[in-house]
Amino acid sequence: MEDCIFCKIASGEIPADVVYSDDQVTAFRDLNPQAPTHILVIPRCHIATLNDLQPSDEAVVGRMYGAARDIASAEGLAEAGYRTVMNCNEAGGQTVFHIHLHLLGGRMMHWPPG
Ligand code: 5GP
Ligand code: ZN
Repeated sequence: MEDCIFCKIASGEIPADVVYSDDQVTAFRDLNPQAPTHILVIPRCHIATLNDLQPSDEAVVGRMYGAARDIASAEGLAEAGYRTVMNCNEAGGQTVFHIHLHLLGGRMMHWPPG
């Protein structure tokens, strides 16, 4: 989609610190990290919010979680633990309207989240 920053990162038009990439998803370090490790896993196809997810998109969301699992392991987070979160719309804290799974680790996470 034109003018979507994460579509541009997925296509390589905008640079990012990419840690994982395959035919369906790509993952890169967050520009403004909220934890020692903060990675965003995104689908290559444009899906604006979780509300817009179609049944045919569900496999790619599964791939996002599979990638997050493998990245967490590669980053040395698996045993200690980590958090994955997807924000939806304004009240959920979403600011970029191309779905992304936050993978946060390297410190203790708090609950309930802010
Ligand atoms: P949201 O608030 O939508 O859940 O998360 C958006 C995330 O994208 C934020 O954590 C923000 O720091 C990150 N972000 C926004 N623009 C860029 C960018 O151009 N590059 C990278 N690497 N991260 C970005
Ligand atoms: Zn997009």
